[in-house]
Amino acid sequence: MRQKLVAGNWKMHGSLQSNQVLLAQLREKLDAKLGAQCARLEVLVCVPAPYLAQVQSSLSGSSIAWGAQNVSQHKSGAYTGEISTSMLQDFGCRHVLIGHSERRGMYGETDFVVAAKFKAAKVAGLIPVLCVGETLQERESGVTESVIARQIDAVLEVSGIDGFWQTVVAYEPVWAIGTGKTASPGQAQAVHAYIRQRLSQHHAGLAEELRIVYGGSVKADNAAELFAMPDIDGGLVGGASLVSAEFVAICEAACS
Ligand code: PEP
Repeated sequence: MRQKLVAGNWKMHGSLQSNQVLLAQLREKLDAKLGAQCARLEVLVCVPAPYLAQVQSSLSGSSIAWGAQNVSQHKSGAYTGEISTSMLQDFGCRHVLIGHSERRGMYGETDFVVAAKFKAAKVAGLIPVLCVGETLQERESGVTESVIARQIDAVLEVSGIDGFWQTVVAYEPVWAIGTGKTASPGQAQAVHAYIRQRLSQHHAGLAEELRIVYGGSVKADNAAELFAMPDIDGGLVGGASLVSAEFVAICEAACS
């Protein structure tokens, strides 16, 4: 049985002060649960890079993991402003988001770049959380599956099917991110099943084990019905991960 994952994406939010409050609340409300009735749930917060040291220290000894929102495809060198996999590992990151739609859409990350970043993360021993998803226009034009296939195939081409072991795919329809519009459980399930089926053509066992989480305006009041779908293994949560009560309630929905 696949372990559920709820990952928070703080995006470019937070301050030393507000993070301290949020992290303390998450520890207080989640740590006991993760050790007991939610033992099979994994919880992760992906924070802005300047706060990794703070999160590493605040979450030390906690069951809540932390990760980054982006990483360079290069190991080191003259890449001003970039952050390498080993730098993330220096701060205890085990996970990194790869190819979030905000990076694809606003920072020109092509399928090729995303595939290179995925490979760099994997080779370094990080767990890439590969984000894929279609825009509203693509959904309305009926090309959702071909967009997802293109995004997945770009990674397959560079890393092969074996590159997907011990990774996570996040299906995040672009039209649902930060918009308050959530894909219906049926819409989300259909795409999750498609991703699993596409990867199962290469390796059925791997596809069965791969965790595929849903992202796009997940909230406390819609999480349970999304997470009840057979191919939805948890959520990638943006806005609601900044509010401890909301995030905790989403985690609770994933462990029931
Ligand atoms: C995200 O940032 O990946 C996301 C899904 O955001 P939101 O939950 O705010 O839609």
